[in-house]
Amino acid sequence: MTAKIERFLADQQPETPCLVVDLDVIAGNYDALRRFLPVAKVFYAVKANPAKEVISLLVKLGSCFDTASRPEIEQVLAAGASPDRISFGNTIKKQRDIAWAYEQGVRLFAFDSEAELEKLAQSAPGAKVFCRLLRACEGAEWPLSRKFGCEADMARDLLIRARDLGLDPYGISFHVGSQQTRLDQWDIAVGKTAMLFTALNEAGIELKMINLGGGLPARYRDEVAPVDDYANAIMNAMTRHFGNDLPTMIVEPGRSLVGDSGVIEAEVVLISKKSYDEDVRWVYLDIGKFGGLAETMDESIKYRLRVPGDGPSGPVVLAGPTCDSADILYEKFQYQMPLDLKVGDKVRIMATGAYTTSYSAVNFNGFAPLKAYYV
Ligand SMILES: *Cc1c(COP(=O)(O)O)cnc(C)c1O
Repeated sequence: MTAKIERFLADQQPETPCLVVDLDVIAGNYDALRRFLPVAKVFYAVKANPAKEVISLLVKLGSCFDTASRPEIEQVLAAGASPDRISFGNTIKKQRDIAWAYEQGVRLFAFDSEAELEKLAQSAPGAKVFCRLLRACEGAEWPLSRKFGCEADMARDLLIRARDLGLDPYGISFHVGSQQTRLDQWDIAVGKTAMLFTALNEAGIELKMINLGGGLPARYRDEVAPVDDYANAIMNAMTRHFGNDLPTMIVEPGRSLVGDSGVIEAEVVLISKKSYDEDVRWVYLDIGKFGGLAETMDESIKYRLRVPGDGPSGPVVLAGPTCDSADILYEKFQYQMPLDLKVGDKVRIMATGAYTTSYSAVNFNGFAPLKAYYV
């Protein structure tokens, strides 16, 4: 936790639950990524944290943006980014949103199916299009598999079709899965991409771009390799499969840019037991799955927690405050909390700058959306 966040919480004593983000951490993460991966263009994945403050900062730092919807594009344009810094990266778009984005000047679009390609041909003539490859996402703690992408042979045919429809078949994208802990996953995907470059060359099409997606991790409970290890793994994969003739490289970090910039402060609402002869305590916080901690689904993302006191501790089940039994954060994985934990104690949930405010429900059970401060 940075001194700035610590000071804000101490001075302001904000109502909990709330997220406090240190924008300097995001700027530092952006600079580090630029430094370690200088040949790649950074397209920040807006969905990770779409706050105005975050977007404005990244516009100022020179970032480009991976967007998924008309409102995300509107936000990025409103923050002062020109349309040539925007990729409409969702493979599932409404025809009228494609037409609208094209009118705004957006010229870079993702697809993974023939039907989407036809929408693009109709409403974004001549635009640069890239095909998303299906990935297994092994080693990812928040996989994005199955829903997105197509197999390589289909990608090849679709890129040829893109040319025939008057679009610019620009490149290939993939996402190795979010919070990817295995460095070798980029090598496999880059290898497949290079094979597609060759196959399309034989069909008279010169692809120009590889979009390496996101997947770089944030630090939660377990240690992760530093960003330079990831950058090296990506560059080694690129030179291994493309030699010295590197195509335009794009990366789309979300979690790794903003994850560790934020801390959620929450409060213990209730501590109880389900029977006289059980020692597991149920600890209910004022934030749960619907208040911003959706990534605890299936206990996928395990946050680092800080609680007061350093006496002996015991196992707890952690749950949110809503009247929905899905609103249990961790039950299989038993966190340990001090035995003298009290109602009203503050619990700090570390590295919660990504995928929290953007996942928080608007008013489920009357609970307000997660309040956030950017300092
Ligand atoms: C969500 C998303 C990202 C960001 O992924 P992270 O793992 O958070 O870095 C990048 N690209 C696309 C297409 C996405 O949907």
